[in-house]
Amino acid sequence: MINLKMYIDGEWKDAENRETRPVINPANGEVISYAPEGTIADARAAIYAARRAFEEGVWSGLSAQERAYYLFRIADKIDEYAEELTQLETMDNGKPLREAGFDVGDAAACFRYYAGLITKPDGYTYHVADPMQAMVVREPVGVCGLIVPWNYPLLMSIWKIAPALAAGNTIVFKPSEVTPVTPKKLFEIFEEVGLPNGVANMVMGAGPVVGNEIASHPEVDMISFTGGTKTGKHIMKTAADTMKKVSLELGGKSPNIIFADADFETAVDYALFGIYAGAGQVCSAGSRILVEESIYEQFVERFVDRAKKIQVGPGNDPSTEMGPLVSQEHLEKVLHYIELGKQEGAKVACGGSRIVRDGLGNGYFVEPTVFIDVKQDMRIVQEEIFGPVVVIQKFKDENEAVKLANSTVYGLAGAVFSTDGAKALRVIKKLRAGITWINSYHPTYNEAPWGGYKQSGIGRSLGTFGLEEFQEIKQININLQVEPIGWFRN
Ligand code: NAD
Repeated sequence: MINLKMYIDGEWKDAENRETRPVINPANGEVISYAPEGTIADARAAIYAARRAFEEGVWSGLSAQERAYYLFRIADKIDEYAEELTQLETMDNGKPLREAGFDVGDAAACFRYYAGLITKPDGYTYHVADPMQAMVVREPVGVCGLIVPWNYPLLMSIWKIAPALAAGNTIVFKPSEVTPVTPKKLFEIFEEVGLPNGVANMVMGAGPVVGNEIASHPEVDMISFTGGTKTGKHIMKTAADTMKKVSLELGGKSPNIIFADADFETAVDYALFGIYAGAGQVCSAGSRILVEESIYEQFVERFVDRAKKIQVGPGNDPSTEMGPLVSQEHLEKVLHYIELGKQEGAKVACGGSRIVRDGLGNGYFVEPTVFIDVKQDMRIVQEEIFGPVVVIQKFKDENEAVKLANSTVYGLAGAVFSTDGAKALRVIKKLRAGITWINSYHPTYNEAPWGGYKQSGIGRSLGTFGLEEFQEIKQININLQVEPIGWFRN
């Protein structure tokens, strides 16, 4: 049984009332651990520790190079424990080992990226009217509350923790209650590299309890949240009372537009990857495939044929290509959407059921599912299902493709497949989305900003933009002629 504890002020803690919550392996329904069910008192202890560490300057007072040194060591430790982290991520989240391995590699790279970035020049000086000299410096925001979801338990944590720490903040971090396992290992690494006490704190527990306390507490200066749009709206309202800085990475219903002149096999291949990687539990999943009318039938036939052949199974089986959904609750949500699609009159072209064969019945497996004959106003077209369920729609021309692509409340990601470069770029520029690809789907880079338009969020992760989220900007005006101003005569 994996041992789970919270990490507050440099100490490993159970919940103050000793309550726990079972953590389940989604491939077989077995309990792999019991996580402390943190309370409001636990959240406050973490917030006060982070506040004290921030005020004492044990972290923000270090030079950028000194902080970078810690981050590089954390990256090295992630590499050292890569195999263990990969196994744990698969056990907790269900994703195939191949996907978990990529996440772990990206996690180390993200720490290295921010370790490098923080030591690079920042700030500006301005030539204003003599005898003044103006300059602008970047400073840490203070105590940052970081709240993450379950779909990339390690990577989503690091997208926040690495830039927040690089910038000199102290943190109160909350993993998803469903997937606290690799975050715990990450905090063991923080202890191992000797992060000063109180700099990085982790509280586990329910969103409406622990998460809500972090979002509302006056000693927290900023909330950086990744999760569902509904929760994001709630957090934004809660954080408004204390005017916290807010950064939100939310849901999506992203269009993948395929023109008749696309390289056909490349488009089919990426479209499959776009929706079924992570069993569709990816915020940027290409969950709406829009196909130009003249190749629609051919595309559906080929896509369905290949979707049926995807090897679904436990993540720790090397032959598995798609793992289970993360939890019983999420399985029920996805199956509910599939039923809803049928009731709305859409046609199931393949899949549509839970998988119980070959001993998979104790896990949360769903067939790769394709809906066709859908209408734009159906809920399965408009709402984020967050599972291996895709709708394939038809469009006549460029204008209709753009119109359909943009007509949901979301604006996270989108892609265009075409061999006409000008057309592809023209369409991409019209998409109201923050993350886009041409003739590709899903690759993500630490250098490039990640985030959404519309109801997919506010702010950006990664890149220089992701660092700036965790910084305040201060202007400093220096008088080079120290003498009275003489504004008043007497
Ligand atoms: P969720 O919103 O249910 O939970 C996310 C986190 O918020 C969890 O840690 C949860 O405990 C916490 N939480 C829940 N209620 C809260 C409250 N009232 N106050 C404070 N915290 C609260 O999301 P989920 O189901 O864990 O994750 C799936 C969602 O995350 C999907 O919508 C997906 O699109 C989104 N997501 C977005 C991105 C992105 O970069 N845009 C990345 C990954 C996931």
